[in-house]
Amino acid sequence: MDDYYVNNNRQDSKDGLHNEVHKEGCYWLSKATNKSHLGKFYTCSGAMVEAKKKYPYSADGCETCCKDCHRG
Ligand SMILES: [Zn+2]
Repeated sequence: MDDYYVNNNRQDSKDGLHNEVHKEGCYWLSKATNKSHLGKFYTCSGAMVEAKKKYPYSADGCETCCKDCHRG
């Protein structure tokens, strides 16, 4: 299982502002200054469920480390 985090700072993307979900070790996670630990999950889908409890409308998977959960 991998540790997942959500960035508490919203980031601009083509669809608006997103709170991106990252897997431990992601380059972009290392750049996030304000993040919350979501827990350990087998896939990004589990991490997204957790992230959506915190950010129902703006949680989105990182394009780099959570491509399967990336919407835009
Ligand atoms: Zn990432």
